[in-house]
Amino acid sequence: MDTKEIIETTEKYYLPVFGRLQIALDHGEGCTLYDADGKAYTDFLAGIAVNALGYAHPAEVKAISEQIGKIAHASNIFYYEIQAKAAKVLCEAAQMDRVFFANSGAEANEGLIKLARKYGSSKAASKYKIVTAYDSFHGRTMETLTATGQAHYHEGLEPLPAGFVYVPFGDIAAIEKVMDDDVCGVLLEPIQGEGGVNVPPAGYLKAVQDLCRKHDALLLFDEVQSGVCRTGKWFAYMHEGVKPDAMSTAKAIGCGFPMGAFLVQERVAHVLKPGDHGSTFGGNPLSCAACYAAITTMQEMHMDEVAARTGAYFKAGLEALQKKYPDKITDVRGKGLLLGAELYKPGGSVVTEALKKGFIINCTAGNVLRFVPPLIITEKEIDALLKALDEILTEF
Ligand SMILES: *Cc1c(COP(=O)(O)O)cnc(C)c1O
Repeated sequence: MDTKEIIETTEKYYLPVFGRLQIALDHGEGCTLYDADGKAYTDFLAGIAVNALGYAHPAEVKAISEQIGKIAHASNIFYYEIQAKAAKVLCEAAQMDRVFFANSGAEANEGLIKLARKYGSSKAASKYKIVTAYDSFHGRTMETLTATGQAHYHEGLEPLPAGFVYVPFGDIAAIEKVMDDDVCGVLLEPIQGEGGVNVPPAGYLKAVQDLCRKHDALLLFDEVQSGVCRTGKWFAYMHEGVKPDAMSTAKAIGCGFPMGAFLVQERVAHVLKPGDHGSTFGGNPLSCAACYAAITTMQEMHMDEVAARTGAYFKAGLEALQKKYPDKITDVRGKGLLLGAELYKPGGSVVTEALKKGFIINCTAGNVLRFVPPLIITEKEIDALLKALDEILTEF
């Protein structure tokens, strides 16, 4: 099929729920994607913060190909060496004690919500409230879209699951007001991704942790996007040393292979008891092979330090652009390679113009250009994008 036919066939048969760019991709290599007509794009989206090692990384190709020839799935009724190894390296990288493997970020967050509810109900019947933030994003299942503090994800889906309370992100006084002994968990992204790359003020996460301790609530971090070296640390919580009781991760843990996980500290490792949680596909040997290869490859490359270094270079370049166009770029923020440039008006046209110049970028929350490239992106590739953005902004 050519691009036109691919798009027409998809539009005929697929549910029309996505706003897609009019490009059909064929393959990728490193940080470059190729469309069905052979046009190349440098990728600053990485499948939405997923492909930390870029496309067709040899370690991933080898691990997945070998594993599929051995055993892809046979359920969690059995043990697997590769699952044991993946669990061990992920727990070590996250500095947590135990893990549960799921298939997506939303599913991982479902696990966190169930953990908090079970924890609360073991203390008091009324202890079921879960506090989340406005502008958050936690997934598309009924529970996780309800946890998501953005009204447009809720519309038309009522009645929503009960027990969620929202607070402005980064505002200590606001969360202090809603915290009481009926709260069983506080679920936050350490840095909000989809909501506009929002970094909370220093000390905020620590203050939230203190409030959780005071009210015996679990501190839950959603590191689906911010985890796995993205922000320049293995997990974003490590920037402030505020370790959650439990956290979720997903996007990059399989470097493109669908997988999610939630991890817990030992003191809450027995809240979910045999039979309380499960998954047919979660933790299957194939996904574990992808995860093990991803994590160990990134460890060997010191990918946390790489992302910190490259991210600082990229951010400085964006800040220079902001200096040049102070009326057009109103803020540059983020950590590592989770970066945002806020524009004075919606940024859809910047995405389209960048595409024409051969760069894939993303705009979130309406007017925030979000840059979440593969963590192997080079300074040269960044320089090329910055030059293109400079040209685009002149006209913007
Ligand atoms: C993408 C994302 C999710 C949802 O992950 P899925 O794999 O799409 O279910 C949850 N939380 C955050 C912070 C995300 O960025």
